[in-house]
Amino acid sequence: MKPLVGFSADAAKAEFELEKQFDAKLNRANLQQWLKRLSAKPHHVGSPGSKEVAEFIAAQFKSWGFDTNIETFYPLFPTPKTRLLEMTAPTKYSAKLSEPAVEGDETSSKAEGGLPPYHAYSIDGDVTAELVYVNYGLPSDYDTLATMGIDVKGKIVIARYGASWRGIKPKVAAEHGAIACIIYSDPKDDGYWRGDVYPKGGFRNRDSVQRGSVMDMPLYPGDPLTPGVGATKDVARGPFKQAKTLTKIPVLPISYGDAEPLLKALTGRVAPAEWRGALPMTYHIGPGPTKVHLKLEFNWDLAPAYNVIAKMKGAERPDEWIVRGNHHDGWVFGASDPLTAMVSTMEEARAIGELAKSGWRPKRTLIYCAWDGEEPALLGSTEWGEFHAAELKEHAMVYINSDSTGRGFVNLEGSHGLESFATQVARDVTDPQTKVTAMERASARRASTGGKVGGDLTIEALGSGSDYTVFLDHLGIASLNIGFGGESESSGSYHSNYDSYDHVVKFEDPDFQYMLATSQLGGHMMLRFANAQTAPWTFGRFAQTVQGYLNEVKALTDDMRRQTERSNELIRSGVLSLSADPRHTYVTPDAKSEVPHLNFAPLENAMTKLQASTKAYSALKTDGLSEAKSQELDLVLMKTERALTNTTGLPRRPWFQHTIYAPGYYTGYGVKTLPGVREAIEQRNWKEAEEQIVIAAKALEAYAAEIDRATSIVKR
Ligand SMILES: [Zn+2]
Repeated sequence: MKPLVGFSADAAKAEFELEKQFDAKLNRANLQQWLKRLSAKPHHVGSPGSKEVAEFIAAQFKSWGFDTNIETFYPLFPTPKTRLLEMTAPTKYSAKLSEPAVEGDETSSKAEGGLPPYHAYSIDGDVTAELVYVNYGLPSDYDTLATMGIDVKGKIVIARYGASWRGIKPKVAAEHGAIACIIYSDPKDDGYWRGDVYPKGGFRNRDSVQRGSVMDMPLYPGDPLTPGVGATKDVARGPFKQAKTLTKIPVLPISYGDAEPLLKALTGRVAPAEWRGALPMTYHIGPGPTKVHLKLEFNWDLAPAYNVIAKMKGAERPDEWIVRGNHHDGWVFGASDPLTAMVSTMEEARAIGELAKSGWRPKRTLIYCAWDGEEPALLGSTEWGEFHAAELKEHAMVYINSDSTGRGFVNLEGSHGLESFATQVARDVTDPQTKVTAMERASARRASTGGKVGGDLTIEALGSGSDYTVFLDHLGIASLNIGFGGESESSGSYHSNYDSYDHVVKFEDPDFQYMLATSQLGGHMMLRFANAQTAPWTFGRFAQTVQGYLNEVKALTDDMRRQTERSNELIRSGVLSLSADPRHTYVTPDAKSEVPHLNFAPLENAMTKLQASTKAYSALKTDGLSEAKSQELDLVLMKTERALTNTTGLPRRPWFQHTIYAPGYYTGYGVKTLPGVREAIEQRNWKEAEEQIVIAAKALEAYAAEIDRATSIVKR
């Protein structure tokens, strides 16, 4: 018998039996029908399509026996009024900024009423200036420009998509004095360099544009006017001018078709090899002679965000909530993102509803959420989480998210106290293509791509980029993000007019098998959480993982010290500025301050304490506890993650309160683990690094103390 964390051997047997019944109820035909129906019209937040989608989903949940309602919030959501981009010198060109209908894609001709290509939360602007190519627009790219003596002050920059979350690009451009930012999809990243383009293949064609949010979400996500509180109809809103998360400069996304003439006209230095994309030309950096005029105006309106909330009350522990969510809004038709995983979540809930109709009841309360407004800024989930913060902190045991799924490998990310739980679920779901378990397939891939051979599957830490953010980072609720992917061509239609039903069935999950596997993955997680005798936490893998993060930040400091010494030596010796050819001269940077030895002792000591607490708890047997005792234990286990939060939040961004995981201030979606410590080191802010070491150590000690409380309950 395979072990199940949280279950005795007998209870595990009953659980496997129930999961078998659940699997037998899943029906691929539903996935196909719902995907077709929900992706038939544009359905972004605030559109009539989004309301229809929310009402349809709510009616389904109701019919499956869930106590369902639609909770509406009213966040600020800008839509475009004027979008103009033209090259005024050395030749004239007007950007098309549109995605025409293509053969074989039925909905591509029905985009009327849908959002055209734009970036949500760009400010208005009307500017004309010379253009500079800045590669991905990362802080390090500007360092490279500086060594070439190129300044973007007063210029318009053009960056390619990739390497960071898109919202970081205008933020860093503005910090360097640029007055506008254009972002384009280079064919090297998701176009013809990768494979045939749509509609022949799945990759991005020359008209396709990646829409997206450019809000400064690493500061705080959700409604810009109501940070920390739910954007209900009558809530007090801050003045528009004080919204801190809008961009500082206007930003616009374009296709490689529109980018090519602009880039081609640039002269000046040739871009370094790593900066070159796959357009058929020599990439130059400029500035100029390309001169562009960019004019953007938006309707700054509040939009209703319709969250569908569907509950099934627990029979024995109704005050312990298992929350599951996926968003329902799309940029246009949103067939892949989010509907592939939205329909999987619906089918999962339908099968659970059927089990309930045949007499089974969950021990704990299940709450299914279909979020609106995820795409612009995680609007629906953030406002709901902020509005219900107190009760969620009290009752929510876990939040399980999904957001798109497709052919390929199981993907698990989240809180490491749930790593054993999550990998056991992947162990018990069969991969549709290879018929081995999803876990075996993911492990085989890890081994074949140079990773560890054998051993347990591990889960990745969560940054940001989907609806788990408010739960994990703001409220300290243990979270998981799940799905399949890696072999679908969804990157080629991402956030474009071509993210359609036809694209999904041709290039992502033709026979709906991975959507079905996602229903199993999510459904088994819900059923195990619903039924476990004790909440399924284990702490060994958490302690081990955090020890790894600590080793990383120490190594990072040592590396920086060595590198600083070496580069300062080079700078002082003058060898950096010897070239006689002006096209190759480099500006010598200033010497950097030496890297001190930081005091990591508080974190080392906290880790020692955590290891000891973990060891004591792991040695216990938790089966066979009395009902009262196991309920008491649950209440401690489900709140362990809260101990990892610090109510003052991270430096300069108090909304983010988790001390172990956060999206990077300069990476966006990308995670920074031990974020307070790591980012202070990266920013060479040594005083702050030492303060953050103490804060993280306190959080780990509090976590260890919670584990000790759990141990004493079991032992008593
Ligand atoms: Zn999505």
